[in-house]
Amino acid sequence: MVILPVPGDLCRECGLCCRFSDPEVLTPWAARPSVDAPLPVQFLAKRPIGLVDAVGRMDLPVLACDAFSAPSGHCSLWGAHPADCRLYPLVLVHRDGGFLLALDPDCPYASREPRTFFKLWAERFRDREWVSLGPSDRSRIRDLAASEDRPHYQAVLSLPEPEDPRLG
Ligand code: SF4
Ligand code: SF4
Repeated sequence: MVILPVPGDLCRECGLCCRFSDPEVLTPWAARPSVDAPLPVQFLAKRPIGLVDAVGRMDLPVLACDAFSAPSGHCSLWGAHPADCRLYPLVLVHRDGGFLLALDPDCPYASREPRTFFKLWAERFRDREWVSLGPSDRSRIRDLAASEDRPHYQAVLSLPEPEDPRLG
């Protein structure tokens, strides 16, 4: 299981993750209200997750993942949380006809490490988890990954299609 080693103190200082202003933007796919098709197991947590009302910076109302503990900043599912959480600030997107892992520069951690570091972690995900996705998994997440893309996300690693002979 691939988990990007984002320092906890950096996340507690930043406080952007696990809280959301829009239920369909940057939320884990497993918690997204519009997602009703079964997701590949890599993108699920060990229990179903959802979004609950919460309070954000400057007391603005926000949503939060129901596995998030605001006082401690901890994820109660840590270690068995969904791949889209485990990979961040890498984001799985579908761009120009193919899947790729892209870096979200809005995360402060994205500028703390060199691009080679994120490429290494992207390769680990490709080799340990992506290869176990089949064609039906791919079709189930293609539209989600396409909607996830943003123009400022920086491409890190192209992911081969699951039936690609290189995976055999
Ligand atoms: S945006 Fe980056 S630094 Fe901020 S909480 Fe999320 S992972 Fe941590
Ligand atoms: S599953 Fe954990 S890491 Fe993912 S959004 Fe919820 S609290 Fe955050």
